[in-house]
Amino acid sequence: MIQTILSQAVEAARPAAELGQTATYIPELGKMDKHHLGACVFTREGERCCAGDTDVRFSIQSISKVISLAAALELCGYDTVFERVGMEPSGEAFNAMGKLEAVGSTPSNPMINAGAIAVDSYLEPKISFEEMLSFTRKLCMDPQIVLDEKVYHSEMSHISRNRAIAYLLENTGVIRSDVERTLDFYVRMCSLSITAESLAGLGLVLAGDGVHPATGERLLSPDTVRVVKTIMLTCGMYDGSGTFAVQVGIPSKSGVGGGILSVVDGRMGIGIFGPALDGKGNSVAGIQVLRTLSRELHLHIFDPSEHR
Ligand code: GLU
Repeated sequence: MIQTILSQAVEAARPAAELGQTATYIPELGKMDKHHLGACVFTREGERCCAGDTDVRFSIQSISKVISLAAALELCGYDTVFERVGMEPSGEAFNAMGKLEAVGSTPSNPMINAGAIAVDSYLEPKISFEEMLSFTRKLCMDPQIVLDEKVYHSEMSHISRNRAIAYLLENTGVIRSDVERTLDFYVRMCSLSITAESLAGLGLVLAGDGVHPATGERLLSPDTVRVVKTIMLTCGMYDGSGTFAVQVGIPSKSGVGGGILSVVDGRMGIGIFGPALDGKGNSVAGIQVLRTLSRELHLHIFDPSEHR
């Protein structure tokens, strides 16, 4: 039943790609075919449903912020992570820097660039990029994940805005380690090459409170996963998070590569790929697929319990 609903949802959402554009501020992302659309659902019962372009590789971009936050909570601890980064929706664009200038101000949350760069500055001295890569492969249940060198170099040569954010954060004392090493780590994490299936795998691990469904290995503590899912719900869809929470109601995180990671707690992980973005940076067709799945499969976090 899930497979039929998923296939229909993907086909119905395809025309919505015309309403969006690929991200061009990182030139390599602008080269993607905006008509791609794929969606995967992996359930805790072991069902794996895929429809559309689910094996096309694309860059994880901001969805890596979920992985970095989880790793930082495990390795640095909750108090360190949230001492100088908030947990409030920002209501501003993902790369906003306006509020950061004031003395004593801190990034609103770890899902926007400023917050993620700060979190990476706490994480980077404790773990190498190679270790993060193998951790990401495990979390996503995808051993094929690699660094997309083209995307990495493309973003590194258009890094001015994130560099400005990072130095502002150093100036206000939010970042206390090496800024250039932090930026390199951040961009490498954003340039990991994944598929919609990798995101469904990651979603499934988070839906199961951090336990790998096949091996039973605990990859993240339940406390870490609770924090991460809550922040995804309130801040994961940029400044469209409130509308998305009402209309879809599934903790999610999007990236400008066109991915969306969604976690239906205790039930399933969902991965979406659709690189045509709306004005806020979210996959237009991807959101449409999720609206349909939420309605048809009763996935909204506040769906009346008789349907669940
Ligand atoms: N690497 C991107 C940037 O820093 C990530 C943005 C995103 O996916 O929201 O601009």
